[in-house]
Amino acid sequence: VRYVYRFGGGVSDGKAGDKNLLGGKGANLAEMASIGLPVPPGFTISTEMCARYYAEGERFPDSLRQEVADGVAHIEKVTGKRFGDAADPLLVSVRSGARVSMPGMMDTVLNLGLNDETVEGLAATSGDPRFAWDSYRRFIQMYADVVLGLEHGAFEEALEIAKEDKGVHLDTELEAGDWQALVSRYKELVEELWEKPFPQDVHEQLWGAIGAVFGSWQSERARVYRRLNSIPGDWGTAVNVQAMVFGNMGDTSATGVAFTRDPSTGERAYYGEYLINAQGEDVVAGIRTPQYLTKGARERAAAKAPSMEEALPDVYAELARVFDTLENHYREMQDIEFTVERGKLWMLQTRSGKRTAKAALKIAVDMAREGLISEEEAVLRVDPAALDQLLHPTLDPQAERKVIAKGLPASPGAASGKAVFDADTAERMAGHDESVILVRIETSPEDIHGMHAAKGILTARGGMTSHAAVVARGMGRPCVSGAGGLSIDYKAKRMRVAGQEIAEGDVITIDGATGEVMLGEVATVQPELVGDFGILMEWADRARRLKVRANAETPADCRTAREFGAEGIGLCRTEHMFFDAERITNVRRMILADKEAGRRAALAKLLPAQRDDFTEIFRVMAGLPVTIRLLDPPLHEFLPHSEEEFAEVARAVGETAEGLKQRVSELHEFNPMLGHRGCRLGITYPEIYEMQARAIFEAAVAVAKDSGEAPIPEVMVPLVGTKAELAIIRQLIDRTAKAVFEEQGRSVDYLVGTMIELPRAALRAGSIAEEAEFFSFGTNDFTQTTLGVSRDDAGRFLTEYVEKGIYARDPFVSIDEEGVGELIALAAERGRATVPGLKLGICGEHGGDPTSIAFCEKTGLDYVSASPYRVPIARLAAAQAAL
Ligand code: ADP
Ligand code: MG
Ligand code: MG
Repeated sequence: VRYVYRFGGGVSDGKAGDKNLLGGKGANLAEMASIGLPVPPGFTISTEMCARYYAEGERFPDSLRQEVADGVAHIEKVTGKRFGDAADPLLVSVRSGARVSMPGMMDTVLNLGLNDETVEGLAATSGDPRFAWDSYRRFIQMYADVVLGLEHGAFEEALEIAKEDKGVHLDTELEAGDWQALVSRYKELVEELWEKPFPQDVHEQLWGAIGAVFGSWQSERARVYRRLNSIPGDWGTAVNVQAMVFGNMGDTSATGVAFTRDPSTGERAYYGEYLINAQGEDVVAGIRTPQYLTKGARERAAAKAPSMEEALPDVYAELARVFDTLENHYREMQDIEFTVERGKLWMLQTRSGKRTAKAALKIAVDMAREGLISEEEAVLRVDPAALDQLLHPTLDPQAERKVIAKGLPASPGAASGKAVFDADTAERMAGHDESVILVRIETSPEDIHGMHAAKGILTARGGMTSHAAVVARGMGRPCVSGAGGLSIDYKAKRMRVAGQEIAEGDVITIDGATGEVMLGEVATVQPELVGDFGILMEWADRARRLKVRANAETPADCRTAREFGAEGIGLCRTEHMFFDAERITNVRRMILADKEAGRRAALAKLLPAQRDDFTEIFRVMAGLPVTIRLLDPPLHEFLPHSEEEFAEVARAVGETAEGLKQRVSELHEFNPMLGHRGCRLGITYPEIYEMQARAIFEAAVAVAKDSGEAPIPEVMVPLVGTKAELAIIRQLIDRTAKAVFEEQGRSVDYLVGTMIELPRAALRAGSIAEEAEFFSFGTNDFTQTTLGVSRDDAGRFLTEYVEKGIYARDPFVSIDEEGVGELIALAAERGRATVPGLKLGICGEHGGDPTSIAFCEKTGLDYVSASPYRVPIARLAAAQAAL
């Protein structure tokens, strides 16, 4: 096998499609080189080597030596320089690059190939000793950190001391001699900390860096990132070795990052930041405040430092042409890294740009209209899960805002929460269900877990492409970056802003759309689903086959669901209606009665209330199917807990509190999930289901009479395991329907069906279907009963199970396709063998999960049902599954 792939100088061994093999960075460097863009020459060591490296105990096979030597020779040939040549040295970068981008997660070493001799050669050939020594000290610093694993604080401190001694603030104010002195100091530090001198052999440097990049794949932060983003650990990273180009060679040199469209709004405008006389990560590291790319952006921000368009107009014009070439070639918004060396533009990276949900929508719709992509591709471009960002509230424009600081609108959305100043505290407090805003001077990859736990992120430093901004946009967290007015004291856990002290735990609000930071909590409003959102949904609806319903039990939720495009209710849980303060007493009276007559009397009082519930829901859902699940939970869930409640119920039912407690303890169950619940209630206390059925049919007839449009009730029986159970309850429902229709002199169409949530029911689906007009897979319970895992107790081990790969994903989030999924497919097949065209749907949390929806499409179900806010997500996911 071959492990090394070259690019640049008219050669491209790889292409954009080779991401699995070459990583995203390597594949796209090869692609850019092949379409004639200026890419410094280099080579990529494939991800297959990463796997082999770990399989063979973190060692390289001998054959790799020759391949890497050939790769270096390729770079030497194209650049005309030699690696390690004292007179005119070739320097390279050694860069990581996995299949999918993991921003800032893995390591990169720049300026490799410098040593005490080559630094002199670089000084001579560049005619710029300052640049040469600056590059050398950067190299030692990075190498010490990334490859030797030495504490980087010591090096940073040495730099601070050098600046203090000279009485300057900025790196740019240091001169050649200062850098040279710092290099000596750095080498001393390496010797002190590593107990060996800094390696002078350039080949040793190169192999050290290659090993470090492969090694960074298993670093703690890379693992955390993979876990949060469901990236498999066996993908591995590639290593890219590439000729250095220098953005730190004076005022006609620069380095920058850019997006071909605005990643925040999706606007069709070049967007980015750059720094004159700077290298690599300077732009994103927040060391100097970056400058705008375009004149327009600079003017809008009223910034003084010239934009690239103004400072380097010719290179800017070339860059703009490159942007267009890239967009046309990739037909996708690109995120780019570039460097200008003495007026010459070099491309260092391109990838499809991370963007907010709003931008994703706009870009997809715009690109379809520009003819760059088709409507179907536009539908496929938007991540359904990301829509969540748009379906949530933004700040109420009418609400009063006490603005205390302003930063950059780095990631939209609004969030209120308690200010916390470190990631661990953020994670801990969020674990206790507290909303927190993570406030940092700037963020780094070590903060990822805290950013994930926080409702929003606020930084004092950093631009729109800073670590905080990029990560927040990717996670869908609101973010305000570079709020210069904040003065943060990590030790004291507080910040000063606008003359006020804000301590850990004080509530603040950030608006990621405006960059405003406010004191206290600010009211929010619901989003409107118009514009690009509406257009994309229309395209999605055209493409999908699955119907989308909602899980809702209140008229308000039903209304929201309809607004979001629900085509019916897939699950209306009736027990929620029983908890109402005014009804609960009658519910308790019904449960505690020891004779049928007592129960009937209490149920008669509940009937009108239950009928009203359904009447309102049917009105909202007129013309659409509404699946109503008969009472499901064990009765003791409704019983009193506190002394006060006992006293109150005792009074209402005319019993002593002691007597009541006795009865309650009789109802206790050891394993309620598998206890006296679901249709077992209907079998033992038929009068309960009879009351519910009566309420449903009386309401349906009433709505049909006065609105003219009859609702379509689908009466659903929970927890059925045998045909006999369903047959008994079905008779009761049909009998009740007949009675109501006769009394009212009008009938409506209705269906009777069952939930499939027990393995036995799935196996016996062929026989159960003889009594059912529809099946709805209740995947929450079905997952519990199939896996034998209680959802409420799974917390203790499930995370570890997923981490260890025992389950590919949390089975309560995405359907366990191999187990639960197989039972669903089997039940669908057996059910439809009995009743061709039997209506099949899924309710439960999985109905709003895109992966599970894809499974439902594949299995040929008729509909999915999701919570109202997830209906648009389900519509889009259903379309993607069908395309
Ligand atoms: P990351 O994946 O963290 O962005 P990169 O490999 O892209 O890491 O490198 C980090 C920085 O170093 C980037 O800003 C990139 O532009 C710069 N860089 C990488 N290789 C070179 C090179 N050959 N010449 C100049 N700058 C480089
Ligand atoms: Mg990096
Ligand atoms: Mg990069």
